[in-house]
This record gives sequence, C-alpha cells and structure tokens, in this order.
Amino acid sequence: MMDLGFDLAGRRDPRLFTGLLFASLGAILEAVPLGVAVWVLEALLVRGEPPLSTIALVLILLACLVGAFIFKIIGGRLNFSATYDLVGRTRLRLIEHLRKLPMGVWNQRRLGSTVSVLTDEFSLYTEIVTHSWGLVVANIALPVVIGIVLMFSDWRLGALALLPVPLALLAIPWSFRLVNRAADRAFAEKQAAVDLLVEYVRGIESLRDLEADRGYRARIEAQLHTVEREMMRAELLPAPAIMTFSMLVFTGFTLCFGAGAYWLVQGELEVARFFAVAMVALHFARTLSQLVLYLAMARHAARTLERIRALFDEPVQSEGKDPLQSGPIELEVHDLSFAYEDETTLQGVDAAFPVGSLTALVGPSGSGKSTLAHLLMRLWDVDAGRVTMNGLDVRDLTLQTVQSKVATVFQDVVLFQETVAENIKLGRPEASARDVEEAARTARAHDFIMELPQGYDTVLGPNGASLSGGQRQRLSIARALLKNAPILVLDEATASVDPYEESLIQEAIGALMEGRTVIVVAHRLWTIQGADQILVLDGGRVVERGPHEALVEAGGAYQHLWETQMENRQWRV
Ligand code: ADP
Repeated sequence: MMDLGFDLAGRRDPRLFTGLLFASLGAILEAVPLGVAVWVLEALLVRGEPPLSTIALVLILLACLVGAFIFKIIGGRLNFSATYDLVGRTRLRLIEHLRKLPMGVWNQRRLGSTVSVLTDEFSLYTEIVTHSWGLVVANIALPVVIGIVLMFSDWRLGALALLPVPLALLAIPWSFRLVNRAADRAFAEKQAAVDLLVEYVRGIESLRDLEADRGYRARIEAQLHTVEREMMRAELLPAPAIMTFSMLVFTGFTLCFGAGAYWLVQGELEVARFFAVAMVALHFARTLSQLVLYLAMARHAARTLERIRALFDEPVQSEGKDPLQSGPIELEVHDLSFAYEDETTLQGVDAAFPVGSLTALVGPSGSGKSTLAHLLMRLWDVDAGRVTMNGLDVRDLTLQTVQSKVATVFQDVVLFQETVAENIKLGRPEASARDVEEAARTARAHDFIMELPQGYDTVLGPNGASLSGGQRQRLSIARALLKNAPILVLDEATASVDPYEESLIQEAIGALMEGRTVIVVAHRLWTIQGADQILVLDGGRVVERGPHEALVEAGGAYQHLWETQMENRQWRV
C-alpha cells in the first residue's frame, strides 16, 4: 500500500477519511447516468418503451449530477482543510524534532538537504497530496463501478474490454520504479543546488569583493540547468509505463468494439445494445487510463514523504527526566573523548569548573577549545566520558534544563529580523520591557539602542546587518544577562574593534561574569591572567593546567605561548 503520511501530524484526522469517502461517492454518482442510459436503451430494445417517464428520468439524472457536485464539494473541502492542516502540523513537528538533533546533523553538507526538505519537498508534497489522493481514490472507484455496469450490459463484450486489464496493471509497479528513480535524481540535484545557494548566501560578503563571485555564479547556473534537466526527465521518464498502461486498456476497448461490430453485422447483437456497450467501454478505458497518471503523482508524493520521514527518523539526543534543582551548578567533565567524524578532536579530558570560578581554555588554533566549550552545553554528545552538572550526566537531564543553565556569548552573534527588544528577550522570552532595558544598560547597549530610529522597537535587518561588530556583541551580552544562567561560556572576541568599543565590551562582560561560573575560550593571554585556572589544550588533550603564574614558571607550552604573545604585543606597540 502507498504511504500517505496520515500519521505524521501526530494524530489521525477523521476528515481525511470522510473527505476521501465523499470524493469517491461523488465520482460514483457521476457514473450513475451511464448506468441509467444503458438501462433505458435495454428497455427500449426489449419492450419498445422507456422504463420510466421522461420526467422521472430527467429527475434521476439531475439528482445524480447535483448529488455528485455536492459530494465532491464536501469531499474537496474536507480533504483540503485536513491535508493543509496535516502538512502544517507535520512541519511544526519536524521543526521541533530538528531542535533536538545533535549538532552533528548541521554540518554544511546536511543543511542543504534539510532546507530542501523543509521548503521544496514540503511544498511539493502538499501540492500533490491535496490534489492527488482524492483523485486516486475517486478514480479507482469510478472504473470499478463502470466495469460492473459494463459486465451487466453485456458480459461477453465486457469480458473482452477487461481482458488486457490484468496485464496493464503490471505496468503500475513499473511506473512506480521509474517515478522513484526520476524523483531521486531530481531531488539529489535540487539538493546540490540548495547547498550551493546556501553556501553562496553565507559567503556573500567575501565573494562580493572577489573574482570568485563570477566563478561561483557560473557553478550555480550550471547546477540550476542540471536541476531543470532532471525535472524534465522526472516528467518524462515514467511516460513509457504510463503509455503502455493506456495502450493496453484501450486495446480492451478495441477488442470489445471490434467484436461488437462483428456480432452486429452477424445479426447477433442489437444496434442499441452495441452503442450502449461501446459507450460504457470507452468511458471505462478513459477513466482507467487516467488512474495511472494520478497513481504516478501519488507515488511521487510518497517518495517525497520518504525523505520527510528520513528526517523524522534521524535520532534525537536522548533526554532524561529532570532532577536538577535551581541554584548553583557544579560543572565537571570526566575522561571525555569526542570526534566530529573519524579524527579524534578531544581525548581523555578531565576538568572541574567550581561554582563561581573563572576557567580559561587556551591553546593553538584547532586544539579543541571551542569543541570543549560546545560539549559543556551539550550541543553535541560525547563519544566517551561524561559531562556532569551537580554530578548528573547532562544526558540524563532534559535538553531544556541544560540549555537554561548555560548562557553563551560567541563571536558570531546571531541576530534575528525582529525588534531589538525581541532579540534581547531570546534570553528570557517572558521578560518585561523594564528587565530588557536593565540588561541593555548593564551590557552598555542602552545608549546606542536609544539612537536607533525606534529604540527598542527597531526591527533589525537580516542578522543585524546595520549594527557594528561591537554593538552586536553587546546585544548578545544583554541577552545572556537577561537569561541569568549560572554558567557562562564565552568566546573571547578576536575581531578588532576600536579602543572605546573594546572598553565598553570589557565592562559589559565584566558585569556579566559577576557571580557566575565562567568558561572563556581565550586568545589573548594577558586578558586572562586573573583566571582561577587555565586549561592548556594541544591536539585535543589538556597538556597543562593551573593559574597563570604557576604555568609561566613551569616553563612548558603555556610559557611558550605567553612569551610569543608578549613579544608580538611589544612589537605591535
Ligand atoms: P579551537 O577552538 O581550539 O580552534 P576547534 O574546537 O574549533 O579548535 O576545532 C578542533 C578540531 O575540530 C579542528 O581540527 C577543526 O577542524 C575540527 N572541527 C571543528 N568544528 C568542526 C565541525 N563542525 N565539523 C567537523 N570538524 C570540526
């Protein structure tokens, strides 16, 4: 049976079934006049008079047409409202599901296909399901009823018309295979195009200045042409199977018509019956050959559904119950190892982050500092070892709890096309306007916000495009302040800002750090001399740990890093 995806919305909607029932009843009612016509012709033949008065016949025909119309309208309404509802709910459930996936899913490579499924595939699916299910069901019901009428009007001619149908049915799985193949190829190419487009939009800033832009655009253009070609193929590839089906069905009609004509000439068949049967047989062949088209469309929908299902099947990060109390959090990592793909990124890391302490993660680029910071808030799951909050494995807490305990200020601040206030409120959606303003003041953001055209109600451009790097940083600090989480993970800004901006950011961060457990990914060692502990990472291992003075005296990796930075600094001054 074909997967219709009725379960994806999380609940079954009776409207879908009643809608299909009404649509089929409408289709059957439409076929009734054909039966009436045969009945009338029969009566004329046998008794020389119609079976009912003309008025009665007209009334019956009218009732059938009006009935069919009403049933179809009701069926259509139920079907449309239920399927749009179904698709809407499914999309929301999918978004909720995606939120719980480990971050590994969001590698660039997956972004394109996820975006394609959420947008393109969903639209295609919606379009096909709203239109084709009803048609498929109605077009199965219709030929069945007409076939029965045919057998009743003349079983020998009916049998001839039906003779090639079993053979024709074999073409249906063939058409399905062709549809699958075409749909998969078109999808793969569309996905590659979306990947390119996403990459392009992300890199647009760098591409703008470069010759590379032209090259990139040519690649996009070529890929879009490929998509176009594959879409054409997707339309045409199933054609042989569909044509074969139609040809076989019409062969049945030809047999029936030929034999009928022969018997007519032989005097074994009445003229009226010949015409009645031919009319019904033609109708039968026509409706049946349309069915295969609708089936191919439904198969296409089912294929898109498989891709939507594949996203649903992507395993979410497991969650536990929630025994964590509010209050201070003792964060620790135990013998932690982690690899993004095959290459080990972190190995055997042990560390404790006592309540209220400041820990700096330092080390050469690529040593795993950011990765460790991400693991602390469970953006990914560790491969071995544990991250614990008050002794509880973060995997045994709900994702929401872990999220609520950690505030972050990263370099690549993400801002949404919302008002400034809404952007800050992401930290705590229920916060009042006064809380928002207080956080903004503490984050030294209030003054520049007041200079924006509508103050806190100014809607930001895409990702806050109109703001400076420093302003974006301060908005994200205000967001973190409002969140008021006991743990703060901080990525020290490396982007150069002017000294005034720098001092504002430092003040804001100083206020944010107060009273929290802070883990900072540090790049400039002189900013973290006062840290309670410094973890020096190299090649994914903690190679040294301790406070600044002790590490400088130890004469190891940290001392080397320190001296290099001091030399550079003096040189720059
Ligand atoms: P650091 O912050 O010390 O510069 P990272 O933690 O960012 O180091 O990176 C450590 C290693 O993991 C690097 O080799 C980097 O290429 C790799 N890496 C970082 N992020 C990803 C990712 N999302 N997917 C795959 N590999 C990654």
